[in-house]
Amino acid sequence: MSAIRDSAVRELLHGVGLRCTATRERILAVLLDTGHPLSHAQILTRLEGSTIDRVTGYRTLAALERNGLVHRVLGIDGSWRFCAHRVVSTGCPGDHAHFFCVDCGAMHCLLDQRLPWLTVGEGYRVVAKQLVAFGQCPRCARQDREPSLQPPGPDEGGGHSPSVSSPGTDPVPTGEGG
Ligand SMILES: [Zn+2]
Ligand SMILES: [Zn+2]
Ligand SMILES: [Zn+2]
Repeated sequence: MSAIRDSAVRELLHGVGLRCTATRERILAVLLDTGHPLSHAQILTRLEGSTIDRVTGYRTLAALERNGLVHRVLGIDGSWRFCAHRVVSTGCPGDHAHFFCVDCGAMHCLLDQRLPWLTVGEGYRVVAKQLVAFGQCPRCARQDREPSLQPPGPDEGGGHSPSVSSPGTDPVPTGEGG
């Protein structure tokens, strides 16, 4: 823990009028240091030697989110990821798209890509919105690139023959009783 980082964390908390508790400072520091969204379980894992229980963790994240220091996004694995950035822009802090890796579960903020403005019907009230691209992160994609048994499409771009005969599937005559 660096003193500079600690005071930056306190400044952020003070800036939104939140009291500086040890739990808030530690959780916010973990999120700022990580720089990409983490699940509740991942956050608690990174708080080595801490005695923060699950409920306190959730409450702290909720308080940080309510005050715009943290935004959250739901992964397609069904669990929320929380993220904080040093630069707190005005408006909704989670107003950007995200990328979710279906192999390792890593979530990343696509900070430069704003969410589209959505028009909803009269009487509807938007509480949040999210846009999550999912697939493989570079590391998982590399690991997945194993030598394939099939050659890359031989007749790509060409006309596909309507009747494809696959070798080795000729019906084997079964001997009828003798
Ligand atoms: Zn991955
Ligand atoms: Zn983020
Ligand atoms: Zn984000």
